Amino acid sequence: MGGIYLHIPFCKQACHYCDFHFSVHTEETGLLVKAIIKELELQKEYLNGENIHTIYFGGGTPSLLREEELEEILHSIHTFYPVAKYPEITLEANPDDLSIQKLENLKLAGINRLSLGIQTFNDTLLTYLNRAHNSATARTSFRRARDTGFANISIDLIYSIPGQDQAGWAYDIDQALELNPDHISSYSLTIEARTVFGHWAKTGRLQPVEDDLAAAQLEFLMQRLESSGYEQYEVSNFAKPGFYSRHNSNYWRQENYLGIGPGAHSYNGVSRQFNVRNNPLYVKSVEAGRVPAEMENLTTNDRINEYLLTTLRTSWGCNVEFIRTQFNYDLLQENAAYIKQLLDQKMITLNNHTILLTRMGKLMADKIASDLFVLA
Ligand code: SF4
Repeated sequence: MGGIYLHIPFCKQACHYCDFHFSVHTEETGLLVKAIIKELELQKEYLNGENIHTIYFGGGTPSLLREEELEEILHSIHTFYPVAKYPEITLEANPDDLSIQKLENLKLAGINRLSLGIQTFNDTLLTYLNRAHNSATARTSFRRARDTGFANISIDLIYSIPGQDQAGWAYDIDQALELNPDHISSYSLTIEARTVFGHWAKTGRLQPVEDDLAAAQLEFLMQRLESSGYEQYEVSNFAKPGFYSRHNSNYWRQENYLGIGPGAHSYNGVSRQFNVRNNPLYVKSVEAGRVPAEMENLTTNDRINEYLLTTLRTSWGCNVEFIRTQFNYDLLQENAAYIKQLLDQKMITLNNHTILLTRMGKLMADKIASDLFVLA
């Protein structure tokens, strides 16, 4: 069940909250695409001939690429890797890039899943976030994508934006539901140090939203989407039945994946590889026949902690028997008092060797996981 992630590190402008790796020098995309194709060849042994079931163009803004460039990349994947018969091929797209012609070409290129970076339907907040689109463009692009025949569309929404109260968040969710997307990813805004918002927070120009309000917004989202027929299969991800993201589900099931492009990560069960977060260095190194990556061998503790962090957030949960047999670690015994406390507080359930977070537990998912971490 291998997957390939392609990091397309270009954006029209920098969103004020974003600390992903990207450059606004979009004139360099051609060189980068060539390097990505070369890296696909250099890394062809990484997944040991595993069938590729999912391909994911993320970024950055992959919708900035020309369709011919996407086709070239997909062609190279088919040349160097065995691809399953019906792969899920996702493209992250910003609403302002999607003309009817572009959408038709994306479909012809083989993209069968779109992930639209809508974030909010409030134009004042979109400007505050420094997004390149407005809410009217978001709605138009979504409808165009449907009309073009995209039957699997996800949208991204952000909550706990300073200035976004509960009524504003309810409005965003209603607007999203009106579009009837197949999948919704929704994350709380995090203020990262190396961003404009990070700088504003440091100088007092921005006041981060209190944790209680962020938790209330997540709780409201869970109630609203559940009652509208969406399954919360991961704390931040909701899908209509049959529309779980196969690519992301594979991450959370510890399947192997190869990350291509500057800043991309790869995982093969025992190690992680991190490509350099610098476009010119990446291109230069790949052109010289070397993948500019650092490798980290995962210890048993790393693997247990990673399993905890990812599976606890999912609807299939954390299998303690798997941890015991795979890593020779008895999570229940080692954390007996804490597990009892979580059960008493109705934060988790424990059935058939599986820990699942309750709705209340989901509000503290990462804290619960880190409390259970095995320390070195
Ligand atoms: S478009 Fe996406 S990747 Fe680019 S700056 Fe904005 S949030 Fe970051």
